[in-house]
Amino acid sequence: MRLLIMGPPGAGKGTQAARIAGYCNVPHISTGDIFRAAIKADTELGMKLKGYLDAGQLVPDAVTIEVIKERLKEPDCIRGFLLDGFPRTIPQAEALDRMLVDLGVRLSAVLNIAVSPEALLQRLTGRRICRKCGTPYHVVFNPPAVPGVCDRCGGELYQRSDDTEETVKERLEVYTKQTAPLLEYYRKQRLLKEINGELDIEDVWKEIQGVLRGLC
Ligand SMILES: [Zn+2]
Repeated sequence: MRLLIMGPPGAGKGTQAARIAGYCNVPHISTGDIFRAAIKADTELGMKLKGYLDAGQLVPDAVTIEVIKERLKEPDCIRGFLLDGFPRTIPQAEALDRMLVDLGVRLSAVLNIAVSPEALLQRLTGRRICRKCGTPYHVVFNPPAVPGVCDRCGGELYQRSDDTEETVKERLEVYTKQTAPLLEYYRKQRLLKEINGELDIEDVWKEIQGVLRGLC
């Protein structure tokens, strides 16, 4: 099974990606994870990446593409793979198509975990974190017993600056603008499978399993 998973921040993509990788017995390849690991291990790639980040620049497509190309040649990818965080742009998607041709394989499906902007806004702006122990809460979905107070340590709960309405709206706009052409790209190739990400985690998973079974 060769899969891509897409979904906006707050759609629960990470949870579902881990389950899919386990269910299909394929490696979960996340560009974010690869980049973080490379930086931590101080590899040649890691130093290059750190250079871009320190300079406040995006990692160029060519670098990301090269990283994925190498990763897909690893023996564990023979069974298949689940790509997460790649491709993010049309040039990356086209590069992936060329890689797959070279490897003599095809994508099985692109799973898009779709959640409306309104629902995402509610999910993301409702997050609160304990200042003392870091326990996460949500004002609607996982509220503490006493508003604003941590159940575990009595610490004060706060909202990360990333989670304010203005910042979340901006992030979602960037995401939508960036991914709309990609979704269209895979829709045209008849690979796109829309998953209703507004259901609860277990029901989203059931929907995904239904899609995966249809691919076998
Ligand atoms: Zn706490």
